[in-house]
Amino acid sequence: MDTSGLSLFSLTGQTALVTGGARGLGLAIARGLGEAGARVVIGGRDAAALDGAVVRLKDVGVDASKVVLDVRDRDAVDRAVTTVETTHGGIHVLVNNAGIQQRQAFDTFDDDDWQRIVDTNLGGAFRMARRVGPSMIARGAGKIINICSLMSELGRPTIVPYTAAKGGLKMLTKGLAVEWARHNVQVNGIGPGYFATDMNRALMEDEDFDAFVRQRTPMGRWGDPNELVGTAVFLASAASDFVTGQVIYVDGGVLAAL
Ligand code: NDP
Repeated sequence: MDTSGLSLFSLTGQTALVTGGARGLGLAIARGLGEAGARVVIGGRDAAALDGAVVRLKDVGVDASKVVLDVRDRDAVDRAVTTVETTHGGIHVLVNNAGIQQRQAFDTFDDDDWQRIVDTNLGGAFRMARRVGPSMIARGAGKIINICSLMSELGRPTIVPYTAAKGGLKMLTKGLAVEWARHNVQVNGIGPGYFATDMNRALMEDEDFDAFVRQRTPMGRWGDPNELVGTAVFLASAASDFVTGQVIYVDGGVLAAL
């Protein structure tokens, strides 16, 4: 292992697939992995949005392409991963970032809401890892990064299904890390605090919620999506080869504070 300088963090020669990579945290992570040298494939349901993001990534010199996929659809996942593996010769880094949020009182969620929220945030990561993992195992190396949440640790009103899913995603991370450790596949999570993205646009525009975030976050502000990049590159690179089953919270200190 070359431990000199920044080469430990280099992703040159690696292919990374980032689900939900067309915008928000996924796009920032895709750009960061690309700038560290990876060939990046972004996945999502909206082909036009993915095309726009690929242009933005190429504009900053990232080797980027897209694959259309719905993480809830087993056949779509299968087809998409086959396409990426055939085109690029394998997936070295999988970032399970696709996620959705829906805010309402617990007793007003119906079964379809529950199914959609849990199946996207948790089932999607299960489906992706199940499909991508075997070729990592065959290669004897791989990195899976699950985008968890503060809600993997804490509760808040109106988002119980999301909280259940993100709590489950933390334990999927630990369970799979243990099962695949002997194959040299590391499975870790990133737990973002409050970040300025489309998912939170309504909250950022809500004066009370904005004040709550600034007060609850010791650093006193929302996170910038680019602030996830360092952790993502670390977890995708050789620098983290003996790190597995961890969730690293990038939260401006929220979980450290009462
Ligand atoms: P956005 O809503 O901006 O982006 C979500 C992405 O997920 C979109 O690209 C969307 O693409 C994709 N997606 C949603 N459903 C599916 C699906 N079924 N199949 C494939 N792709 C899908 O959210 P953020 O960037 O804010 O969040 C990204 C991740 O980070 C999520 O998992 C979220 O829970 C998590 N997170 C975010 C925090 C924040 O503060 N922003 C805090 C903690 C965690 P499309 O709709 O085109 O398919």
